[in-house]
Amino acid sequence: MQKVNYGRMLDDTLVQLKNEGRKPKLLLHACCAPCSSHTLWYLNEYFNITVYFFNPNIAPEEEYEYRKNELKRLIKEMKLSVEMIDEDYDPAPFYELSKGLETLPERGERCRKCIGYRLDKAGDMAKKLGADYFTTTLTISPHKDCQFINEYGAKVSERCGVPYLFSDFKKHEGYKHSIELSRQYSLYRQDYCGCVYSKAARQIQKEEKL
Ligand code: SF4
Repeated sequence: MQKVNYGRMLDDTLVQLKNEGRKPKLLLHACCAPCSSHTLWYLNEYFNITVYFFNPNIAPEEEYEYRKNELKRLIKEMKLSVEMIDEDYDPAPFYELSKGLETLPERGERCRKCIGYRLDKAGDMAKKLGADYFTTTLTISPHKDCQFINEYGAKVSERCGVPYLFSDFKKHEGYKHSIELSRQYSLYRQDYCGCVYSKAARQIQKEEKL
């Protein structure tokens, strides 16, 4: 199957918006500050952005609060006029969806459900806010399945009626730029994806290297 160039799709949309002189409202689902840094920098010129921190997968609670507060600090320090909506910590839905999938490796079915759930909620929030588009920072990660994220986003869009902004934020050295911005703003860069299972897997990797 031919791979879709989601980075090109995003660029085409941005050119179109610029030509039309429009600055639509975008609901941007954000997983953490490092992934948001380049994404916000890249999109801010084209959209009125509301950042949505919805990540019931993150554990433990202190980690959740820390990632959330780092994102708030980043928005403030980048001096962006961006609104942020965040949810209180409630990991119950994540444990429900990952039942029976706890031991699967990253990029497997547990991750598809985890990402899908967050995109579902982002689409619902975009609809509630009357946003013109919604998307997620998750496509900047080289560890995530970009194609799945975009295909699932398109399905959510069909359900909720809000256009999904296709993306591959890794393009144009996006991932590298996120590392540079993380350094510039002294952002906390976590060494595991988010859930207890990814934390345990990372710990095993570290011990194997010793
Ligand atoms: S590894 Fe990451 S994407 Fe996969 S289930 Fe855990 S938090 Fe979600």
